[in-house]
Amino acid sequence: MSISDENNQENLDNALFFTSKLEFWQQTVFDSDMLGGAAMVSPPTKDSCSTYPTVPGISCKNFALPSTGLTFEQRTAALRQLQNYESVQKTYFLGYQVNQSFNYEQDLKQYLNYHINNVGDPFQSGNFTVNSKFMERAVLDYYASLWNTRWPHDPNDPESYWGYILTMGCTEGNLYGLWNGRDYLAGKFLLNDPTVEEEAKKASLSGQSRSVPRRLIYQQAPVLEENPNAHTPVAFYSEDTHYSIIKAMRVMAIQNFYEVGTEKYPQENPLAPGQPWPKEVPSQGGNDGSGSIDIESLCKLVEFFAAKGYPILVCFNYGTTFKGAYDDVEAAGKALLPILKKYGLDNRKVYYDPEDPTKYDIRNGYWFHVDGALGAAYMPFIEMAYNMGRISQRAPNFDFRLSFVHSIAMSGHKWIGTPLPCGIYMTKTKYQLRPPDNPEYIGSQDTTFAGSRNGFSAMLFWDYLAKNSYAAQVDQVLYTENIVTYTYLQLKALAEKLGEDLWVAHTPLSLTIRFKRASDDIVFKYSLSGETLYVKGQKREYSHIFIMAHVTTALIDELIQDLSQPGAFPKQEEEQPELEADDIYVTHKPKKLIHVPHTGRGFK
Ligand SMILES: *Cc1c(COP(=O)(O)O)cnc(C)c1O
Repeated sequence: MSISDENNQENLDNALFFTSKLEFWQQTVFDSDMLGGAAMVSPPTKDSCSTYPTVPGISCKNFALPSTGLTFEQRTAALRQLQNYESVQKTYFLGYQVNQSFNYEQDLKQYLNYHINNVGDPFQSGNFTVNSKFMERAVLDYYASLWNTRWPHDPNDPESYWGYILTMGCTEGNLYGLWNGRDYLAGKFLLNDPTVEEEAKKASLSGQSRSVPRRLIYQQAPVLEENPNAHTPVAFYSEDTHYSIIKAMRVMAIQNFYEVGTEKYPQENPLAPGQPWPKEVPSQGGNDGSGSIDIESLCKLVEFFAAKGYPILVCFNYGTTFKGAYDDVEAAGKALLPILKKYGLDNRKVYYDPEDPTKYDIRNGYWFHVDGALGAAYMPFIEMAYNMGRISQRAPNFDFRLSFVHSIAMSGHKWIGTPLPCGIYMTKTKYQLRPPDNPEYIGSQDTTFAGSRNGFSAMLFWDYLAKNSYAAQVDQVLYTENIVTYTYLQLKALAEKLGEDLWVAHTPLSLTIRFKRASDDIVFKYSLSGETLYVKGQKREYSHIFIMAHVTTALIDELIQDLSQPGAFPKQEEEQPELEADDIYVTHKPKKLIHVPHTGRGFK
């Protein structure tokens, strides 16, 4: 019986249970009445099960939640469907850079019954003692070492690292990195207000007791007469950048070079004078290329804004979402630094007391963030394999060996594999937004993004790293590289057999392979993600797969088998692009582009 047959059977069974959402609700309200009318609840406007997407193998009605809860039998039936659905989908999972092979159950199962919360800074114990911060610190130390920065964290050692384990995935790390970068460049200071205690004391004289909460002043460095742009960061990132960066720009109200350029210097695009500004920094070789940032274009764009005194915020990709490309952070930094120096943006004075010109901090006039969602976890082990002579190439350096890197973000659920999204943000202690080194002010560092932080993630990271030595991880990266090669060759052979160009493409050392978009059935079966690219003026819809540690040759063989069937590659509409070929990267039509495109990337 296929999944959809089973689904139909389940639906039939459930028809007897509740025929419609409305009836279901009436039943619920009837039950609520039993509570003496205590429950004031709203009825549905229509049947949600026929409104929401249908999911093969899942009968919506089984999962609806009445006020009575479900009986043991009903709950068991629903959970059985859940188990069938998730295990089938997991078995064939190929479309995203998420590892599905791990076993945390063995060590950590019991902790589903604990609320473990790492609220606050990882390096301060705090009073929420049901935490796993001691594991979080061990994990952070591990990555500080792997990413070649000074450890352990020491608040008195500005060169030592600081970081924390994210409750979201790399999105939160990017958000935090850009926030950190924006405020560092904008000349923000976090100061303690010393008048709080005085005010509380006075207020308490009127008879009421007053607490003394710490009041932080978020101070802005004064505008400089000689350079009005000194505290307006301008952001740069490539056209292959993940949508989380674009989202973060929005949330943080950070302007990118396209916005500032278009608004203030419409005729001065340095890449093509008189032409509109590009929306993002071009990637190498345009849309058909490897997908890493084009350093020459980046330098030209940065120089334009550096010359006008704007501080520079660059977000590099280390493993792009679609092409798996690695920006050459080292080469880019080395090319950018002389430019920044030329315009006094390497190190500059940032004043924090408008009254007192002797009070300033020395800060960089630039911030380089590395979005290493997958690559920051993966590439260190490729480098080890390379140094051992077990693989013939490695990707460029990206970590804190490069003195110009300010922050790195990584996802935990991608390379490592965890049952829930998590990740790591890391910077250096000296870049944390904190009070200047001045004894008049008492410091309190601005630390994590969320208040409550998921303490389970630290345990998952720790368990994985405790079980997987460097040697084991080197074997693992070599295993996935081999499967990538195998898959690439199989797809090429298939194209030959079918006598059809399947547009099979692969960026070296990436774990992803893209090819002509497969049929909906195949897309669902393997959870394939998709993207549209314009290549040489032609619109192309692609599917892509990620070869993570759970992928076997048997799974690839099954995919190839499915792709060999008639109808596996539906005909695509031939559509002429409305703009020059190289202008377009995203799936939507160019005329729908708003200021910064934030659709058409990543998890689709
Ligand atoms: C997946 C990904 C992200 C976002 O990470 P989440 O863990 O999904 O929040 C950011 N950048 C890149 C390059 C990614 O691949």
